[in-house]
This record gives sequence, C-alpha cells and structure tokens, in this order.
Amino acid sequence: MATFKISVINGDGIGPEVVAEGRKALVAIGERCGHSFSFAEYLAGGCAIDATGVPLPDATIKGVKDSHALLFGAIGGPKWENVAHHLKPEAGLLKLRKELDAWANLRPAVVYDELCDASTIKPEVLKGTDIMVLRELTGGIYFGQPRGIEGSGPTRKGFNTEVYSEFEVERIVKMAFEIARGRRKKVCSVDKANVLESSQLWREVAIRIGKQFPDVALSHMYVDNAAMQLIRDPKQFDVIVTGNIFGDILSDEASQLTGSIGMLASASVGGPVGFFEPIHGSAPDIAGQKKANPLATIGTVALLLRYGLKLEAEAALVERAIKAVLKSGLRTGDIKQPGTTIVDTVAMGEAVAKQIRTIA
Ligand code: NAD
Repeated sequence: MATFKISVINGDGIGPEVVAEGRKALVAIGERCGHSFSFAEYLAGGCAIDATGVPLPDATIKGVKDSHALLFGAIGGPKWENVAHHLKPEAGLLKLRKELDAWANLRPAVVYDELCDASTIKPEVLKGTDIMVLRELTGGIYFGQPRGIEGSGPTRKGFNTEVYSEFEVERIVKMAFEIARGRRKKVCSVDKANVLESSQLWREVAIRIGKQFPDVALSHMYVDNAAMQLIRDPKQFDVIVTGNIFGDILSDEASQLTGSIGMLASASVGGPVGFFEPIHGSAPDIAGQKKANPLATIGTVALLLRYGLKLEAEAALVERAIKAVLKSGLRTGDIKQPGTTIVDTVAMGEAVAKQIRTIA
C-alpha cells in the first residue's frame, strides 16, 4: 500500500471549510484504491499572523517541503488588510509559491453539461467548453523589481515591473505544448506584444518553442481580445498559456463560464512539491455559514492526484464522482438552478465522498 504525506494549509475564511471536504475525498480514494494518506496541518495567511506574527512561518515551509503534495484552502480577509505589505497574508502566499518553485499554474475550466444553465452566459455558447489555462506563476509583474511607492505630493508614484526572462517563458510554453498533445492539440499564447517589450520576448520564444511541436497548432492573441473571445466563443480554446497577471485575470473570467468561482481548481507545479488550491479566495462574506462550494477544492484534489502523485485513474474517479453528484441534482447556493436541491458545504462534500466509494 502506497503512503503519501499530504501537507495541509487550511488558511482563513472558508479555507478550513472547503479543505475539510477535500480531505474527505482523499480519504475515500484511499479506502477505495488502497492508498494511505497522512495529513499534517500548517499555518499560513491571516491565522498565521495572529498565531506567530508572520504570514508564512518557517515551520510551514519546512513541513510542506517534506511532503508529497500541498493541499491549500485560501488566505486573507479584511482583518489583515491594513498590516504592512510584507506581512500581508498574500505576501506569505507569494513567498510560498517562490519557495516551492511552483512556476506553472494549471487552471482547468470545464463546463459540466449539468451546469450549462448556471452561468450568466447562454448554454449553447458554453456547452462542451474545456479549457486549460496555464499561467506562469513565479515571474512577471507580481515579482519584478523595482517596485514600490516613492515621493510625496502630486508626483508621489507607485510602480511595478513586468519582466520575463527567456528561460521562464521557454519552460511554461513547453509545458503548454506537452499538455496540448494530450488534449485537442491547440495552444493559444496570450500577450500584449503590441505594447509591452516583455510580451514581444514572450511571443518570440513561443514561436521558437512551437517549432519543436509541429503537431500542435500555435496561435497568438492580445490579452484584451482574449478576454473578449473567452466570453464570445469559449469553445475555440484548448490550452491558453500566458504570464502571471494576464493568467490571474483570464482564469477568473474563465471561472464564470463554469457557473461559479466555487467550481475552479488549480495546480501549481514545477518544483519538487506541487501546490494544489482552489482559485477562489477566503470569501469572508460567506465564511462560517456552510455556504461555500467545496467542489473547487475537491476538483483540486483530483489535480493533486493527477499532477502531484501521478495517480491518473484516481484523479478521474474524483472527477466522475463530482459529475455524478451534479447529475443527481445537488447544488450549493452559488450554482443553484431551478429544480435542484440546495445543500450546504458538508453535505456536498459527503455526497462526493460517497460517490467516490461507490461509483462504477
Ligand atoms: P473571493 O474569491 O474570496 O470571493 C469572491 C466572491 O466569490 C465572493 O462573493 C465569495 O462569496 C464568492 N466565492 C468564493 N469562493 C466561493 C465558494 N467556494 N463557494 C461559493 N462562493 C464563493 O475573492 P475576494 O472577495 O476578492 O477576496 C477575499 C479575500 O481572499 C481577500 O483577502 C483576498 O486577498 C483573498 N484571496 C485569497 C486567494 C488565495 O488564497 N489564493 C485568492 C484570491 C483572493
């Protein structure tokens, strides 16, 4: 029997609620498929600031690095908005991504047939949408130097730097082509090469790497057009590869195709330990009310199994279980539709775990 050490960061707001349901899915997979998962919890985010004074304690970094994969909830909230920039919960998250060298963020946006009506977009536009957004995660404007706020009076300025090196673009674009080979063999590289030099370099590298993958079609799109095309005709996309900030925004937009941000999972890989988290934040507006949709986190567990532990059959089983639960008509409030049954976070999580144990 294989034993896997899973590090767990619940975080703030709805983080602990959704992670609890993700863990139930892993336990069910363990029972059904003969794996054993051990869980070790670590602090990060606002709760870490409260307990230790910093958003990412050293013990967390050490513990996570010593595990096979990290299951992460969400961090942040109004309570910690006014702390110094380097002590903000988000600073801890960015540091953790850097520490784990998690340079590639995979964000699948799959529209389940059962949820076609849950989106604000017409079902006929959405049906069949299956996009993999691949976002560069440890470079670009979120990390570039110089950055800061300087001066005083009317000329006081805030500034950040968008910067990409060849090797950073090369490795993420290469991963996009490799993923596309297992899908519909289309890569759309999104940039702003008409305005930004960093994007010009990005595009040049994408074209060069594309020559190594003649079986995959490469197209380019400016980010403003991509934002529009995602809503107009999402089915035209297979794999989208883009930089950190564009990927952040486009993947949130893509979440609306799927019906709710509570449906979208993500995997951050590249380093020795993968970092798996739902794309949503800590949702302070619904925290503690059992209203959070745990399916993004349970979908994240599927990605943890697929990309973190290389257990493809187990990952597919979790995805089939999610689909079966949606088909049975259970919904959390964020994806409610006429004729469906509204359940809370726990009931949704337990319904998926039950399917994992029993589905054919
Ligand atoms: P958010 O994703 O937390 O919430 C946006 C909206 O979506 C809210 O109305 C919320 O109720 C809803 N929502 C989010 N997840 C849901 C779920 N699983 N089920 C049902 N509804 C859900 O974004 P925000 O409000 O901009 O940010 C709140 C806090 O989270 C901030 O402190 C922000 O910095 C932080 N944040 C953290 C992460 C992370 O941990 N990776 C990501 C984004 C935002």
